[in-house]
Amino acid sequence: MRSSKDLIDKIWRFVRGDIAVREFENWIYQAEKLEILFSPDFYLMLISTDYSKSDEVFVLKTNLKAKLNALMVYDCMCHTLSNDDVVEMGNHDPVFESFNELVKYGKPLWWLWLAQCQSCKQYWMVAGEERINDIFILKRMMASKASEILEDDVWPEEFKKYKSLLRIGREWGISWTFENPISSALVHTTIDLARENPGISTKEISHLLQVGLKQADALASEAYKKDGVKIIRSSD
Ligand SMILES: [Zn+2]
Repeated sequence: MRSSKDLIDKIWRFVRGDIAVREFENWIYQAEKLEILFSPDFYLMLISTDYSKSDEVFVLKTNLKAKLNALMVYDCMCHTLSNDDVVEMGNHDPVFESFNELVKYGKPLWWLWLAQCQSCKQYWMVAGEERINDIFILKRMMASKASEILEDDVWPEEFKKYKSLLRIGREWGISWTFENPISSALVHTTIDLARENPGISTKEISHLLQVGLKQADALASEAYKKDGVKIIRSSD
């Protein structure tokens, strides 16, 4: 028999985007005990929402969030985080408060570590992209995957390249403008990208760092001067 906690967990997964709208819609019509979790009015709203309309789904999610927070008190934020999530630096304290760092990957992947929430015991793989976009990238980990890291030092591939972290930042719509177009953060990241991805072009650098092609050219020159790394010049 499903407990209220299971129901609430499932609804949180929908709210944070880990369950597709269609799947959730099918589920609510057949989920037992949903009526007793919510007031009759709210339950009616749940089953009468037009799930094909994104604005209605957005309103529903916002309302659900408030309802769920009233129904159950958590000591951590894990239930609100998507399986793949991004937290901006500066907003990370409430999330990281319950996180315990278990192990760091160490050099050369200085950004990568494994955390466990002390409250709900959830494992998270964390990548700190602290150079360009100032974000923490999180991936929910099953216990079996976490033990591969802890016992065998086998890490998933997702965050092993700095290029992937920059891509994720870009996909999440996060960008940072540097006052100095050849600031050391940009230059060092360019050097690392060139080492990590032999044959990389200035076009790719410009895409990953979210700078213009001209600036990427200047960064490539600077990277060559400082470190001797070669970057293919793209003509636009
Ligand atoms: Zn937690």
